[in-house]
Amino acid sequence: MKIAGSVLDVIGHTPLIQLGPLVKGLTDATVVAKVEYFNPGGSSKDRLAVGMIDAAEKAGLLKPGGTIVEPTSGNTGVGLALVAQQRGYHCVFVCPDKVSADKRKVLEAYGARVVVTPTNVEPDDPESYYSVSDRLAREIPGGFKPNQYANPAGPEAHYRTTGPEIWEDTDGTVTHFVAGVGTGGTISGTGKYLKEVSGGSVRVIGADPYGSVYAEKGPARPYFVEGVGEDFWPEAYDPSIPDEIITVSDAEAFSMTRRLAREEGLLVGGSCGMAMVAGLEVAKKASAGDLIVVLLPDSGRGYLQKIFDDGWMTHNGFLAPEGVATTWGSRI
Ligand code: PMP
Repeated sequence: MKIAGSVLDVIGHTPLIQLGPLVKGLTDATVVAKVEYFNPGGSSKDRLAVGMIDAAEKAGLLKPGGTIVEPTSGNTGVGLALVAQQRGYHCVFVCPDKVSADKRKVLEAYGARVVVTPTNVEPDDPESYYSVSDRLAREIPGGFKPNQYANPAGPEAHYRTTGPEIWEDTDGTVTHFVAGVGTGGTISGTGKYLKEVSGGSVRVIGADPYGSVYAEKGPARPYFVEGVGEDFWPEAYDPSIPDEIITVSDAEAFSMTRRLAREEGLLVGGSCGMAMVAGLEVAKKASAGDLIVVLLPDSGRGYLQKIFDDGWMTHNGFLAPEGVATTWGSRI
């Protein structure tokens, strides 16, 4: 019999899927996607949610009936909501207003409360989602803030699960690992494991939106892609792990996101398109025999009203209006 004891038992062990049409004629290397929407909550964040709650219970920071308060763009919230349901905790999530309504509704469907804050304020502004979540965690009795930005259990979860899965599923032949950088947990934990196990030969490449701080110096600027990029360097990010950071525009990321759905049958989110733009840049310079693994964190279902909506894309300048030449190419 093959029956999971609970939904938490099917987190991880996501598949590696080789890309076809998208890379044809572009490279002699093999490019594969690690497709994280196969997690039960629909994203890579399920992994770190379990890791952070396990660690908090062990440390006595979260007691029975307690409330989890976290600033999250949605995916971490879903993971935390799953764990909370299984273990009897309440959840309050704080989201910036650029996060799609679909994503917020998913959190509410799991029984969580969602508080929305403005996107374009400094992190230390009392209205920022960091400040609001700090205040709520203090004020709610039994409140606990996992703080994915600083919690070492985040990168550790990827070190323990994502890294070993990639190594084992490629029989130790992976040569490059590409991932978008948000809190930095994915790239830091997975990258650390792959570098250690390969004796340093796996090259680790981060993808970052224009306007974020990982690659560019200077003030942060707004961008549309969700879940990646920061206006500060979080503690979960280990800057010694990535060998390179590739900067990707919203337009490039969204165009690639749509191509992944239409050409590869992978309906994924905008940060996946962003990671894949970086992955293909790496692939162009790679050799035959190289095996590039690009991590795709979530599903495209939360972005149907945005990236997959021609009106939204056109309104925001990512798609030219009908009849006007566009660098994006055929609109199909
Ligand atoms: N993509 C999406 C959609 C995300 O929600 C996140 C997490 N913020 C990431 C990518 C980046 O992962 P990490 O925080 O581990 O760097």
